Amino acid sequence: MRPHVMEWDEAQGFSPELLPKLANLGLMGIQFAEEYGGSAMSAVNYCICIEELARVDPAIALSVAAHNGLCAAHINMFGTDAQKAAYLPKLVKGEVLGAWGLTEANAGSDAAAMRTTAVRQGTCWVLNGAKTFITHGAIGGVLVVMAVTDRSKAHRGISAFVLERGTPGMRAGKKENKLGMRASDTSEVIFEDCRLPAAQMVGEEGQGFINTLQVLDAGRIGIAALSVGLAQGAYEAARSYAKERRQFGQPIAAFQAIQWKLADAATKIEASRLLTYRAAFLKDRGQRMTKESAMAKLYASETAVRVADDCVQIHGGYGFVKDYPAEKYFRDVKLLTIGEGTSEIQRLVIARQLLSQ
Ligand SMILES: Cc1cc2nc3c(=O)[nH]c(=O)nc-3n(C[C@H](O)[C@H](O)[C@H](O)COP(=O)(O)OP(=O)(O)OC[C@H]3O[C@@H](n4cnc5c(N)ncnc54)[C@H](O)[C@@H]3O)c2cc1C
Repeated sequence: MRPHVMEWDEAQGFSPELLPKLANLGLMGIQFAEEYGGSAMSAVNYCICIEELARVDPAIALSVAAHNGLCAAHINMFGTDAQKAAYLPKLVKGEVLGAWGLTEANAGSDAAAMRTTAVRQGTCWVLNGAKTFITHGAIGGVLVVMAVTDRSKAHRGISAFVLERGTPGMRAGKKENKLGMRASDTSEVIFEDCRLPAAQMVGEEGQGFINTLQVLDAGRIGIAALSVGLAQGAYEAARSYAKERRQFGQPIAAFQAIQWKLADAATKIEASRLLTYRAAFLKDRGQRMTKESAMAKLYASETAVRVADDCVQIHGGYGFVKDYPAEKYFRDVKLLTIGEGTSEIQRLVIARQLLSQ
């Protein structure tokens, strides 16, 4: 990937030739059962895969994480056997990218305030509304989407549906022109009288939002791993540069001010990694990890922001230009304190868990 990172960033889209290559490495079905063609790896192994991708190109890691950890994971966790058999093999083989639509223009952190509706008409559900900021919204072949099926029941009146690109009434809307993570497509998805057979509902009617929270508990471990990988990549770039760059007759790594930045970065990355693997380990043991995954996501993403900032600082002016990797880490990193729940929302989740004990 490394030689293409800037080319993909400038092209502003997920490069299609990557998909079969990632799939051949087993990275499009990391945690799914072998009967669907998956790699059947553990959550800890999933973290290591996402971390290693993010170390080189965080945008590709984001696409792989959204595909595995949101779309395919939702079908795997709550889909019927028929839905799993219909969608998981093509997702795992990399025939299509997966997308997952929760967020709307006026319902981000408060996702339960969504306006997209699914109204029952005979044997079908008819979807109307629009989802915003959807990873692979313009290119995903399979989409899991949340919609209100009974407004009177608030968050217990939201259900999930799975559909394929090309379904009449579903189309991509605005493609976002982003600060970072530009090699990962982020687009609006619009539904206009989109009719889906009842069999396309994923999980029970009214359970879509509750299931979403469970998907996000695990998904956040992936974003924590992405943060660890990005921070590791930025730290390694900063360390190499500090050893090479000479000022005042010596490598800048000889200055204590630079050494402390590197020491703090290495320490915080290690702490982030341990929090992340711990949350993943709990998931592997089938234990609840709402608090631990939120802690890992919060700490690792905020650490990554700090490390990417210091990486630019250590590079000086060269950190501000595109000939060095520092500026891209600095742009990509900010998504990590926002996507799959902002830092404020992670604190809210953690505090709720602490106070309910
Ligand atoms: C590149 C990218 C990819 C994405 N991919 C997907 C995807 O695939 N699928 C999907 O469904 N969504 C996706 N999202 C959406 C993402 O999850 C949301 O942007 C995020 O949840 C925040 O929602 P918002 O942008 O509406 O911000 P808002 O909710 O409007 O938040 C604005 C600010 O207010 C703060 N805030 C909000 N509520 C509270 C509160 N109760 N207490 C304290 N502070 C609060 C927030 O923390 C934030 O600082 C993506 C976003 C981006 C940028």
